[in-house]
Parts: sequence; C-alpha cells; structure tokens
Amino acid sequence: MKISGRLVPSPARDSEAMTAETPEEPPSISPSPVQDLLFEESATRRLTPARIPVSRRSRAFLHEFFPRTSEAEWSNWNWQVRNSITSLEQVRRIVSLTHGEYKGIVRRSSGLPLRITPYYASLLSGLDPDQPIRRAVIPVEDEYLVSDGEEADPLSEEQQSPVPGIVHRYPDRVLFLATGFCSTYCRYCTRSRMVGNHERFKGGFNQWQQAISYIEKTPRIRDVLLSGGDPLTLPDGHLEYLLSSLRRIPHVEIIRIGTKVPVVLPQRITSRLLNILKKYHPLWMSVHFTHPDELTPETRAACNLLADAGIPLGSQTVLLKGINDDVGTLRTLYQGLMTVRVRPYYLYQCDPISGSSHFRTPVEKGLEMIEGLRGHTSGYAVPHYVVDAPGGGGKIPLLPDYFVGRDEGGVLLRNYEGKTYRYPQCPSTR
Ligand code: SF4
Repeated sequence: MKISGRLVPSPARDSEAMTAETPEEPPSISPSPVQDLLFEESATRRLTPARIPVSRRSRAFLHEFFPRTSEAEWSNWNWQVRNSITSLEQVRRIVSLTHGEYKGIVRRSSGLPLRITPYYASLLSGLDPDQPIRRAVIPVEDEYLVSDGEEADPLSEEQQSPVPGIVHRYPDRVLFLATGFCSTYCRYCTRSRMVGNHERFKGGFNQWQQAISYIEKTPRIRDVLLSGGDPLTLPDGHLEYLLSSLRRIPHVEIIRIGTKVPVVLPQRITSRLLNILKKYHPLWMSVHFTHPDELTPETRAACNLLADAGIPLGSQTVLLKGINDDVGTLRTLYQGLMTVRVRPYYLYQCDPISGSSHFRTPVEKGLEMIEGLRGHTSGYAVPHYVVDAPGGGGKIPLLPDYFVGRDEGGVLLRNYEGKTYRYPQCPSTR
C-alpha cells in the first residue's frame, strides 16, 4: 500500500494501528519517513486506559515537574516518549548536576544522545550523583576518555553483517537490528556507535526487507533476536509487520525480543501490544535490568503482564563499576526478578566501547559475583557470566573454578562454602 507515494508495511495492520487505543510512535528520531508519516497520523488517537499503575513516587514526580499533565497522559507511552528529557535545561530541572555531568552533557555534539523517559527520570536521585541508575543514564565527561583497547565497535558487529541490520555471528541464529531508537539511552551501550544516530543507522522498511530476505534465504537460521535500539519502541503496526514476516519463514523456530522498555517505559506494555505478541509464539523476551531500584510497581506490573501473555522472560544485566558490582545488589535484583517471573539469564562483562573505563570492572569481579551467588540463592537466580569476545568471537562463559583436582578415589570438587568433596568416578573412567 502507498500513502503519499510511500510504502507502508501492511495495509491490514496499518488500519488496525489507526484505530489503536494508544498513540504510538517514537518521536524525533524515526528510522524512516514512513514512521514519520504514521506518527503524524497517530498523534490524534485517543488515550488508553492505564494497565500499568502509577506509583506514589511517579505521582509525586508528575505533580512536581508536569503539574498540568493528567495521570492518564502520564500513563500513555507516547506521551512518555514525546516528553522525554533530552536537553541540559530539562535535566537541570530534575537533578543538580556535577561539573563532570554538566561537561558530559554540553560537550555532546555527536554520539549517544541524552534521552530519559519522564518515568525513568522519576527514579533518579536529584542530589546524589553516585546513585546507580543516575550514573547509568546521565552522561559524564569520562565518556570522552578513550582507553587502550576500547573501540566504537568492539564486537566487530559491522564486519559480521551480511546485510544492513543483520549481525550473523553464530551458525543458527541472527541478531536483527530493527531500529536505532531507544526511549532511554544507557551510557554504556554496546551499540552507542549507532543507536540514536540516524546517520549511522537508517533502519526502516527497505532495510527490514533486506534483512528478512537474508533470513528467508538462509535455512540454517532457526532463531532471530530482534533488537536495536529497542524494538518495543516501534509502533504496533510496524512491530507486527516484523513479527509476522519472521513467523512466515518456515525455518525460523524461535523469535526473541531484546528490550529495556519494561524497565524504562513500562507504559508501553498495553493490551494491544500483548495481543500482538501472543500471536507469534514461541516468542521469548530478554529484558535489560541493571539495578534493584528498577523493580518498581510499574515495572513489576509490566513483567507480570508479559509473563501472563505466555512470554518466557529472561534478564540481561551488564556488570557496571559502582552501579551493581557487589553481590548484595545483584542478589537483591535477581531475587526480585524471580518474583516477577523473570529468569536472570546473562550477566555481561561490560564491552570495551570507547569511553567505557569508568564503567568497566576487572573480569575477576564478575567471577566474584557468581561465586557469591551460586549456592547462596536459588539456582534459577544465578545467571551465566559471559564476556563477549572483542573481535567478534561471541560470548564466552566464565565460572569460578570449582574443580580442585583428582586422586585415586575420583574427582575433587569445591562447594559454595569452600569445602572440598570427592566425587567417585566410575572405575572405567578414572
Ligand atoms: S536500551 Fe539497549 S540498545 Fe538502548 S541504549 Fe540501552 S543498552 Fe543500548
């Protein structure tokens, strides 16, 4: 179908999108002119009733910083995106900036933009620059210090990209970069070279078509991870176009979505979105959590709605210096995630992107985290600790060394308390 001479993904789905409850379009950075067009059209839609609660904290923030905004508007994800914090003036109304933060924001002429949803901004401390989640989203001057070994694309994703928007690193699965837009930008983002940067990542319908066509022609691909940027910031019609196109490919068994939306924009988890997602099972979701402060009534509701829709949820957490690099913090996060049916999946060593040294821990710190979790809490609450190998080698799992050695009687193993036990090997295997 054409509107004003431009291709629109799916006529049926567009008409659905036009009657949606929720205005839905990421805003100022859109992957294609088509999205701009849909945004103009969707701007007139009526507001949706909230399914995500408005917590006491959100309500206090709303009244202080958006006194003329209703709770219904606040609960609308498109309102959240349109009113996101993107400028120095806006940030200054909410937090007292340190000199380093001020310089980090004003120096920015290119690279990863500043963007924080009002909801997520409500969780930030106005006075404490060391508050973990504030550090994760407010730029600092240290982002401009490039250390040895750091690179814009440390995982060589661009070299492993057979067509724009696809990274094909492992034999049976691909990463599908659906959009360059996120509702909130994490300062340690592996793809900071391209997210939020329309020059570096075009996205859009033509690019999606090339990506889908590559997957169609590659029968060994049985698992597609939709990521970006954040695919859940796409309008419903566009997301459904992608999901239905992938689901039509016979050899694609599993579709996964990588997202931080339930954490930074839980209002996006609308009934309409859930109804779409439910149609494309088996659909899995990896949600990007960083810290227990993110487990709010809103985020909990979002995760429960997704789980109720039958979507297996895993969490991906980047290990970050001074943010979550202690066992107590991670244990609280992981045990909290279990209560909302999110299985801790990966704990990532922070990738050596340019300007990341203020976030990166030694690899030994990751091993210390696993050692402090394994055996001390439910096994389901212990993720895999992985280092994504620079140069495109893929994820390498690391474990503390529980293997002590062997003797005549068998294999000597260390337990979580540091005690050594012997496992008697079968005589034939000694
Ligand atoms: S949500 Fe993901 S893709 Fe977006 S900025 Fe954060 S880490 Fe990067």
